Amino acid sequence: MKQYDYLIVGAGLFGCVFAHEAKRAGKRVLVVEKRPHIAGNAYTALTEGIHVHKYGAHIFHTNDAEVWHYVSQFAEFNRYTNSPVANYRGELFSLPFNMHTFHKMWGVVTPEEAAAKIAEQRREITGAPQNLEEQAISLVGRDIYEKLIRGYTEKQWGRDCRELPSFIIRRLPVRLTFDSNYFDARYQGIPAGGYTAMCERMLEGIAVRLQTDYLAHRAELDQLAEKVIYTGAVDAYFGYRLGALEYRGLRFETELLDIPNYQGNAVMNYTDRETPWTRIIEHKWFTFGRDAAGQDLPKTVITREYPIEWQPGEAPYYPINNARNSALYVQYRALADAERHVIFGGRLGEYRYYDMDAVIASALALCKREFA
Ligand code: FAD
Ligand code: UDP
Repeated sequence: MKQYDYLIVGAGLFGCVFAHEAKRAGKRVLVVEKRPHIAGNAYTALTEGIHVHKYGAHIFHTNDAEVWHYVSQFAEFNRYTNSPVANYRGELFSLPFNMHTFHKMWGVVTPEEAAAKIAEQRREITGAPQNLEEQAISLVGRDIYEKLIRGYTEKQWGRDCRELPSFIIRRLPVRLTFDSNYFDARYQGIPAGGYTAMCERMLEGIAVRLQTDYLAHRAELDQLAEKVIYTGAVDAYFGYRLGALEYRGLRFETELLDIPNYQGNAVMNYTDRETPWTRIIEHKWFTFGRDAAGQDLPKTVITREYPIEWQPGEAPYYPINNARNSALYVQYRALADAERHVIFGGRLGEYRYYDMDAVIASALALCKREFA
């Protein structure tokens, strides 16, 4: 008998949930993580009392009551509601697309006027939208597409909007009300104490080896456990033997500023094509500018997020679910399904644009199957 029932590769949310539930089911588990910290891309670290989201803004939101109650065991969530501001060459617009946005764009005042304007502009699209550009124009019209979508999207994905799938833009709500909540979610918030503390609680009593790359030590690590739960990139697992799946890379540039307020909001999107970053995050506003004791924070930390071309070996952030990659993933999936003793999960393991709640739901579903 091997030393562990499960070797869990990756201490992101998928790995943390699976490890916690496996331990609760009486299984022996070991987690290996190649980074020097747990929590995956949700990782937060304290600077001057501010929880800095090291891999970009992470706002927890879900419509799934089971997932919300599940995460609430490990953290108390505040009432943060995401409401980003779009900055188009110095002009500010409310996001997601709502009556504030339509008023600023067209001077319309009533929902009826806004609907009429959108209807007039969407007429240029006949038939079902075939790509992101057509989908965007058919949702909100050309003016909004040109000022708030095109530049941002082409920077974010490094591709023309006509080469991108339409589902990406359908992530954003369009509302004929003044509600500027970015997410259509019953539950939303940021864990008090940060995501790292939340993941620490999930991993309580569980052996974790940081700075351990499974792929570099596969033979010896496989000896330790009966089964592997692998949450790294599926193509990397197979040595890119069918070719590399494409991802979008990111570069984060973080600054500590000796001022109390840089932009007055947690998230500002730069939607023009020329500004090289897509957004600036001012982390303190995720906790309303206060520290854990409720004191106003005198300084601020901002992060500029630059999308970059991704090369195999670099940190993969966003799967690019276009036709080429989706077809390639189907082939990798077949290899993955044939791999005995290994289960692939999470954003990289399943090559899916999963939000945190969906990753948690997917890990919990796997646990139900494994520990039934
Ligand atoms: P990850 O968090 O990527 O964890 C996988 C872990 O596996 C990583 O820590 C990695 O280092 C490790 N690993 C990989 N390969 C190996 C290996 N060979 N050996 C050992 N370890 C390995 N979701 C939301 O719900 N709300 C948001 O606001 C939000 N914002 C986001 C912003 C950005 C910029 C990004 C990139 C994502 C955002 N997400 C958001 C999505 C969220 O990050 C994911 O849903 C979640 O982190 C996925 O968890 P995971 O465990 O699948 O993957
Ligand atoms: N998007 C946009 N303008 C914005 C914000 C988003 O055009 O100001 C588009 C862009 O294509 C992006 C998609 O909407 O990739 C989904 O946005 P979301 O905020 O959900 O992206 P994420 O937070 O996952 O990066």
